[in-house]
Amino acid sequence: MKTRHGLRYPFETPPAFGTTQEIAPGLLWLRLPLPMALDHVNAYALDDGDGWTLVDPGIDSKACRAALQQALDGPLSGKPVTRVIVTHYHPDHIGLAGWLQTRGAELWTTRTSWLFARMLCLDEQALPVPETVDFWRAAGMDPVLLEFRATERPFNFADCVHPLPLGFRNMAEGDVIRAGGRNWRVRIGHGHAPDHATLWSEDDGLILGGDQLLPSISANLGVYATEPMADPVAEWLESCRAFQPYATEDQLVLPGHKSPFYGLPLRLRQMIENHEGALERLRARLAERPHTATECFPVLFKREIGMAEYGLALVEAVAHLNHLYLRGEIGRENREGVWYWAPV
Ligand SMILES: [Zn+2]
Repeated sequence: MKTRHGLRYPFETPPAFGTTQEIAPGLLWLRLPLPMALDHVNAYALDDGDGWTLVDPGIDSKACRAALQQALDGPLSGKPVTRVIVTHYHPDHIGLAGWLQTRGAELWTTRTSWLFARMLCLDEQALPVPETVDFWRAAGMDPVLLEFRATERPFNFADCVHPLPLGFRNMAEGDVIRAGGRNWRVRIGHGHAPDHATLWSEDDGLILGGDQLLPSISANLGVYATEPMADPVAEWLESCRAFQPYATEDQLVLPGHKSPFYGLPLRLRQMIENHEGALERLRARLAERPHTATECFPVLFKREIGMAEYGLALVEAVAHLNHLYLRGEIGRENREGVWYWAPV
């Protein structure tokens, strides 16, 4: 068993795309490719006897669909996917859910996840809407980049999420779901995505964590033009603390990315401390002089932010500033459409 940063990883190597790795009886781990810096997402297949429950079936790209098809024709052949469980509405998790629904599967997710995914699939835009451009400007996006992005087709759900047919089954806090020969308790988290479902086995200590419970990488906490005064950092910290009483050393967490791990009590502490540390560095930096959100990248991320990460960094910087602002610790001043943040 490998140990890194105090977490223990029982599986040395992840399964190749299109193949599976048995985690426990009736529970298989799959990897699906993503066309991003984070190049994979985990899916899990739970054996329900006469069919499979598939958790988080990846993004709707050619490569991802091919890898999933390879698994369906290979290790998962012999019975159909009868149910898809989606932890949260992000495209790398819900992308192929609608495709599996058209092939006979039922979709189970939280109501918020379903509404968000379906709304965003229908909200296709050829160019960013004015609210989005204003939001980017307000965050201090570089003017050259802003002009480029304002005239470019933006990220669209419809480009990477298969249309979701009508009909889903709601998963709510406290529900118990039977899948893969186990009873799973639904616990809802927030911050990375509103109403993110996690499933905690009541029989053997397995946890389907989605992006709420990730090892080694931190889930993005982002603010967007849809809800510009949101405080996902507060929601995330509250969720981490709410999970702490249920976390034990012998639980094996099956995350949405990276590898299954033991050590959830430590991981929850790390997740809280990571953001508290970032907020502390931010307070100190803003005390020196007012900053825009993008000017806070170096102090928040402690590394160079490349173009591939710029968008995620921007929404995360605004999230941390909003948190201090809504706590009354900092104020902001608008100069020609750009917010400058400083202690009050
Ligand atoms: Zn994800």
